[in-house]
Amino acid sequence: MRIAFIGPPGAGKTTQAEKTSDLLDVPVLTTGNILRDHKHEQTRYGTPAEYMETGRLVPDELINHIVDQQLQEPTYSRGVVFDGYPRTVNQAEHLHDRHPLDVVFLLEVQDHHIIDRINERLICPNCQKSYHLNYNPPKVYGVCDSCGTELTRREDDTQAILEEKIQTYREQTKALMEVYQAYGILQRIQADSDIETTWHQIKKVIQQMQDSQQQG
Ligand code: AMP
Repeated sequence: MRIAFIGPPGAGKTTQAEKTSDLLDVPVLTTGNILRDHKHEQTRYGTPAEYMETGRLVPDELINHIVDQQLQEPTYSRGVVFDGYPRTVNQAEHLHDRHPLDVVFLLEVQDHHIIDRINERLICPNCQKSYHLNYNPPKVYGVCDSCGTELTRREDDTQAILEEKIQTYREQTKALMEVYQAYGILQRIQADSDIETTWHQIKKVIQQMQDSQQQG
């Protein structure tokens, strides 16, 4: 199964993608993490950091190339959960021509929730696991559950970058909804409340898809 999560920054894409990955036992592909790992590498478009540090999207050609390469890895042969990709119509069409998705979850949240979630977000600089001080806290304050590294704030979680990312989302990513609606695979999810309430809606859709696959 190939699944993607789209939504504004702070909508909970990474958290819900991880839960989906656990349920289906298929890996998550988080484009933001891949770019963070290579952010100072020089490409013909400049370094990823130049885009990430201003809240802009890296060029489609670069991210499409990275994703194409990743998907050649055997680990993705059984399926993939995309977190943060696609983010533009060009990326969606590129993916659709090569590896069409089965379902796209659009996580819908109001603006004031976005700001709150970003302000309270922490990340592990080692394994990239993400936390929220209220909704998804680590077991030990300030320490990653998975690898024990001290948690930090993401470098791009500043007010100025967040505003730019919300603007970019409105201008470029929202148009994806129409694309996926036309493909007939868009699922709108109310993501304003807590993690488990959002997860319950997603799980229900996945289980319905699995049931209909078994019947067909
Ligand atoms: P994220 O962790 O998903 O918020 O991504 C962090 C940053 O990486 C974004 O603000 C973009 O600059 C870049 N990025 C991640 N995914 C993509 C993508 N699919 N297309 C373009 N830029 C991306």
